[in-house]
Amino acid sequence: IPVPHRVQNRQVQDPALTERVAGFADGSTNFFNTPDTDPDLEQNRAWGREILSKMEHSPLGKELVKNNTLNSAGELDESIAMGVDASASWQALGSAKRAEILHRAGLLFEERRATLLEVLGSECGKTIDQGDVEISEAIDFAHYYAELGRELDAVDGAKFVPSKLTVVTPPWNFPMAIPAGSTLSALAAGSSVIIKPASQAARVGSVMVQCLWDAGVPEDVLQLVFVGDRSLGQQLVSDERVDRLILTGGYETAELFRSFRKDLPLLAETSGKNATIVSPHADLDLAARDVVQSAFGHAGQKCSASSLVVLVGSVAESRRFHSQLIDAVKSLKVGYPWNPESQMGPLIGQPGEKLKRGLTTLGAGETWAIEPQQLDDSGKLYSPGVRYGVQRGSEYHKTEYFGPILGVMTAKTLEEAVEIVNEVDYGLTSGLHSLDKDELSYWMENIQAGNIYVNRGITGAIVQRQPFGGWKKSAIGAGTKAGGPNYLIGMGSWEDAPAKQ
Ligand code: GLU
Repeated sequence: IPVPHRVQNRQVQDPALTERVAGFADGSTNFFNTPDTDPDLEQNRAWGREILSKMEHSPLGKELVKNNTLNSAGELDESIAMGVDASASWQALGSAKRAEILHRAGLLFEERRATLLEVLGSECGKTIDQGDVEISEAIDFAHYYAELGRELDAVDGAKFVPSKLTVVTPPWNFPMAIPAGSTLSALAAGSSVIIKPASQAARVGSVMVQCLWDAGVPEDVLQLVFVGDRSLGQQLVSDERVDRLILTGGYETAELFRSFRKDLPLLAETSGKNATIVSPHADLDLAARDVVQSAFGHAGQKCSASSLVVLVGSVAESRRFHSQLIDAVKSLKVGYPWNPESQMGPLIGQPGEKLKRGLTTLGAGETWAIEPQQLDDSGKLYSPGVRYGVQRGSEYHKTEYFGPILGVMTAKTLEEAVEIVNEVDYGLTSGLHSLDKDELSYWMENIQAGNIYVNRGITGAIVQRQPFGGWKKSAIGAGTKAGGPNYLIGMGSWEDAPAKQ
């Protein structure tokens, strides 16, 4: 089964790439996934060092946050009214003109990659490699939805009616790619958008929105809004004029939003508790590498992270696998992203109660193979932890902690491993490392997760190739996936024709 990976051949300011992207506009280029920055090239490393030198004290986005904070119910009410009004002209502009603007946004993201990396590291603790893939994803969203938006107009016998006003409430863990995906698809569909970035990622969200404004999205069609207090947040979510709400966040947040408004038109990607199964038929070197990356990338603060690994049969006893896993985790250099040595950055804030428990307490039968340590007084910097002996049905098995901890479980057979994984309430991502065709088929038939990955890490879904979204308690709404076509269709409805697939 071929698994596509991004090509890592991008050079900074590669003119050929810019030209290829420009070809989207006249149809001479088909959609392609934009390459990430190749850290093996010295010119890219020099570029990275320049970014790091500005990161710690970067002021980027601060002004924008200040200027877009609303403090009264009246101001918010006006914003909502303005968004609804603006949708008519945005829709009337037509999908071709909208596509032009969105492609320009993709180009601006590329041009401002350095600026975006600076603010991602400064505000959210993203190391350059983690930020870089996120920017590539945002660029992909821009070009992908720009192109797909045109197709909505070309459907025979059916008229696509976009939502008038979409509210986007993105998370802080992918503060660039996730809001970009939701916002760009809503805009491509012809909807106005109010975006309220997570408070921990306010500056990143603002700099992203500035790119869209500079690309030509009118300021009433796309409004950046921060709210001075919680009651305004509730007002925004509950307002009946909002006809689509896109949330990426915890399951509890989705429940809270639904308690505000019973008929909330919600599209939500929520929590995950994801596992990688390693079979005796795996390439164990590859498996160890992928598990470590999936568990500890961005300090495990991804809905898609692999916070469990289930070792099947003889792998559980394989000294080679264990020593590779443990050595790799111990060798991870933890630090602030502006330190060029850092491979794993800090937590977004001091751990809440749940994560604190995950970092400090063990359940029955569990032992620390590597115990996480708090590394400084900020309370945000933790070394990665690995716990062995996680029992089926235990708290660790079922709980999403959203931090740098990996739990190791064992199963006698692949069937048992699949049962263990499926016992979790969520179903976002899942992985199998095996080179056996029958095992792959069995696993694909039976595993309950929205995004399933074979012989690769389980984070980092790629736009168009691997649309991202979950099932069970990991998704609410139409079950559409970001980076795929149904997500765009979810931004409106069809008139005078049966629903399209
Ligand atoms: N789309 C991201 C990935 O594939 C995960 C998004 C999230 O953590 O919410 O890794």
